[in-house]
Amino acid sequence: MTKKTQLTCPCQINPKGAATTLLSYKDCCQEFHDNIDKTDGIKPDSAERLMRSRYSAFVLVKPDYIIKTTLPAQQELLDNQSIESWAKETDWAGLKIVKHTSKLGKRHAQVEFKAFYNTENGLQAHHELSTFVKTNDKFASPTNERWYFLDPTVAMTVSQKQPCICGSGERFKRCCGQLL
Ligand code: ZN
Ligand code: ZN
Repeated sequence: MTKKTQLTCPCQINPKGAATTLLSYKDCCQEFHDNIDKTDGIKPDSAERLMRSRYSAFVLVKPDYIIKTTLPAQQELLDNQSIESWAKETDWAGLKIVKHTSKLGKRHAQVEFKAFYNTENGLQAHHELSTFVKTNDKFASPTNERWYFLDPTVAMTVSQKQPCICGSGERFKRCCGQLL
């Protein structure tokens, strides 16, 4: 018997779908998790990849990854402890991407998904539509573009006419404000 050394990536498990070829964690989300602190490290190149890696981070209880993939302007308003306890207390059961709108205007994207979890009453799902923004440092090369999750639950003290929290240079109301 060969020892099972390759764990299926949590984001590949979909309890409602037929199992086809599943990627191992090593070949899927691990490189994103491991490289989160490196500015030039590999990072998700689409909102869907980022969404998947965030789901896997919930399953594997990596609250730092959840925070660091949220828009920088929102990060200090997130609570590491409560993310960690929520991730631990949930009996995660799989992920299904319902729809990936990869381009929404200049720099946004949306992912509709179902995150499954087990309860005493059986399988339940969080069905959500999440918005992501691609930031682009003006002074950096295109490879420094990075996708971030826009957290709609974080209270932002930004007025509609102020520059957007994503750093695009546009007014908030014409940028992320439209989607939050
Ligand atoms: Zn994965
Ligand atoms: Zn914006």
